[in-house]
Amino acid sequence: MKERVYNFSAGPSMLADQVLEEIHEELYSYNSTGMSVMEMSHRGKEYLAIFNDCKERLRRIMEISEDYEILFMHGGATGQFSAVPLNLMKTGKADYIITGNFSKKAAEEAAKFGQVNIIYDSSANDHTRIPELSELSFSPDADYVHLCSNNTIFGTQWQRFPDTGNVPLVADMSSDILSRRINVADFGLIYAGAQKNMGVAGMAVVIVRKDLIRSDLPDMPVLCNYAIEAKNDSMYNTPPTHTIYVLDKVLKWIEESGGLEEMEKRNRQKAKLLYDYLDSQTFYQPHSEKGSRSIMNVTFTTPDKETDSEFAALASQKGLVSLKGHRLVGGIRASIYNAMPIEGVRKLIDFMEEFAGERK
Ligand code: PMP
Repeated sequence: MKERVYNFSAGPSMLADQVLEEIHEELYSYNSTGMSVMEMSHRGKEYLAIFNDCKERLRRIMEISEDYEILFMHGGATGQFSAVPLNLMKTGKADYIITGNFSKKAAEEAAKFGQVNIIYDSSANDHTRIPELSELSFSPDADYVHLCSNNTIFGTQWQRFPDTGNVPLVADMSSDILSRRINVADFGLIYAGAQKNMGVAGMAVVIVRKDLIRSDLPDMPVLCNYAIEAKNDSMYNTPPTHTIYVLDKVLKWIEESGGLEEMEKRNRQKAKLLYDYLDSQTFYQPHSEKGSRSIMNVTFTTPDKETDSEFAALASQKGLVSLKGHRLVGGIRASIYNAMPIEGVRKLIDFMEEFAGERK
């Protein structure tokens, strides 16, 4: 088999070896059924066991109380940019905090369905920062407040979350869910595309407080409707069966590795190594402000665009792949999600030192 590379892709992204090995082992015949999970009916006994195991593990790992429903929904995180306002806008008003590309997209989508109040926008400083909580003032009559906990493209992350009182806080956690402990009870709704810390592409996981689910919305498209999804346990139609199976494997790996406490410890350690190196030299420029730095997506630039391209190409030859920054911002982005081992980060730093040394 070909040697594996260190894959710094922002998503779809790297999976843990254990996850791949188990899937590989079970691919041809799952649990002596004579078929793969991909070929199974979603209503069958074998598959329902996987499905239920996945939900139970997620509830356990994230300590999600019974006040919350867990939904597996089609359409990725982008689907939720529409589903959230369609389900949660009661009076037709919501506060949005823009700290990057995806929170902007979420706000633009929501504006199709109601009045969107942008209460903070970091565009003016090139999304290098997350606001201080004291900079935010919320509309008392908003139906919800929306933020994106980690900005995949710019590499900033909320270190703590605002208290929005009786107004539900909604968070797009696509690129940092399962990376650290959070208090689910602080949120009305959390959603995340699965293709980073939750496995592979094909769905969004939605964790929604039950009292926010409305059953009085008959005109809503069925695949956006939380009440219908909840009533049918995410099986109103065929769910993304294989994506859920992979999530179950990822969750098993997280639990066996020591849960979110251990994931957070490892992630902080990896990020610290990389940021400490970035702060110790002048060749590379980190993008985000110190207090806003992401432990998932580390963004920086070399002295110019040509050198950025050269960096990514040379790194790739050494088995450090997908380091090119997002097409919107350029530069370099190292995505160091849960599955990236610390050796990958050490190898990256060695390469960065060597690359910079040769150009001085
Ligand atoms: N939100 C965030 C924070 C993301 O990083 C992404 C994708 N990278 C999205 C939303 C969009 O997700 P999807 O492609 O699943 O629609």
